[in-house]
Amino acid sequence: MSCKFSDEALQRLAREHRQDHFHDECGVFAAHGHPEAAKITYLGLYALQHRGQESCGIVSTAGGGREHHVHRAMGLVSDVFSEKTLDKLPGRHAIGHVRYSTAGGSQINNAQPFCATTDAGPVAIAHNGNLVNAFRIRKELESRGAIFSTTADSEVIAQLLARSRERSQEERLIDALSRVKGAFSMVMMAGDVLVAVRDPHGFRPLSLGRLEGSWVVASETCALDLIGATHERDLEPGEVAVIRRGRLRSLQPFRKEAEHFCIFEYIYFARPDSNLNGNNVYSFRKELGRILAREHPVAADVVVPVLDSGNTAALGYAEEAEIPYEQALIRNHYVRRTFIEPAQSIRHFGVKVKHNAVKELVQGKRVILVDDSIVRGTTLTKIVNMLRAAGARAVHVRVSSPPTGGPCHYGIDTPTREELIAHEHSVDEIRELIGADSLGYLSLNGLRHCGETLKHGSCDACFSNEYPVAIGDEEPRPQLSLFRSVEAEDD
Ligand code: SF4
Repeated sequence: MSCKFSDEALQRLAREHRQDHFHDECGVFAAHGHPEAAKITYLGLYALQHRGQESCGIVSTAGGGREHHVHRAMGLVSDVFSEKTLDKLPGRHAIGHVRYSTAGGSQINNAQPFCATTDAGPVAIAHNGNLVNAFRIRKELESRGAIFSTTADSEVIAQLLARSRERSQEERLIDALSRVKGAFSMVMMAGDVLVAVRDPHGFRPLSLGRLEGSWVVASETCALDLIGATHERDLEPGEVAVIRRGRLRSLQPFRKEAEHFCIFEYIYFARPDSNLNGNNVYSFRKELGRILAREHPVAADVVVPVLDSGNTAALGYAEEAEIPYEQALIRNHYVRRTFIEPAQSIRHFGVKVKHNAVKELVQGKRVILVDDSIVRGTTLTKIVNMLRAAGARAVHVRVSSPPTGGPCHYGIDTPTREELIAHEHSVDEIRELIGADSLGYLSLNGLRHCGETLKHGSCDACFSNEYPVAIGDEEPRPQLSLFRSVEAEDD
């Protein structure tokens, strides 16, 4: 059989996976006052890799904060940084970022942290979130002569900061942030001062930790665990933490707003070993599975998760339903950028590169297949077919979140409303499209009931259509650019 050397099929596979999930946004990390600040930041980014795989970067300061040293590139943390590159990032303070493009396209000049030189000195910014009025502010600034070097909305913050008349960099940042709306969990390094901020609604997580007398800030606590830091607390919504010479000063300069922490962080984005606002992600997911089992029981022989997103909810479902749990789908974790694709087509070749069914576990069985969400249904359809081909007698799909009928405007990469399968189709139509014997989604009430244990306000707009921060009509949804290009290539 002749073979061609191609990465097209694998890229298509990666795109299909994205289309079946809302995509992680970004992760930020900072180390302040540590002799190996850049190396600590590198490790922190390693733990946050699940939040963004397109590009990453670290900025460190030396020379009393006057010099910024930068290394940014497209790719994974393990590919971008080496002993040699880290040695070129000296100093006791550093911030880092992993990025999956939300606002702005996928290109190196959008890689963060952003660096800017202002009349008050150099600043570096790493931002997780999405600003809903960035496009309008950008147009306004451009009409007054501002030149933007990236297409990412985070640069708007840097431009506003550079124009502020306030004296200190932290006052300038507060001034800039009081003009933007939407989601921002971010760190800024200005000289030897570190500033960490969460937006007043608290959409995205941000945690504070201590390591050998130094301060560390991370999007998720799993990054603190990796470096052996103690978790002090999470930043409050609207809090600005200014760390100077090892001392932290906490400010609440913004108007108080209702808290709207992203519930999807618990459902899919965050790592299960992270604690968000004091709540363990793993336990939350398992509880969703339990509620799902009570809402959508079905006679079956085995509960199978779609790896890795459905793992924990499937476990909760299986325990509640008292049906055996089996990892009957095996996922290849070593799929890289290129592989050799046979010229002659093989049935379900694409999906089999990543997943394969263990025939012995599903043959002649009624299978309950659990996933965390269905965005477009592309991969799930293939997995249902794969289970049938492996001999499953019935495939019942259960989803541990309600139908995703709306896009996210607060820092998550999503298709447009029209591209979401749940916007276009009823549950029964979706069942037919994915080829399942039955389909059951967690109800919005079920999700909210589980969310009541969180003791903080949540955003569930992509399920409920109740958007807590108005989008306005000026936004052309730039964060969707990647999905749009994917669509065009696929179809
Ligand atoms: S709409 Fe709300 S719940 Fe949905 S992904 Fe965005 S922030 Fe999270």
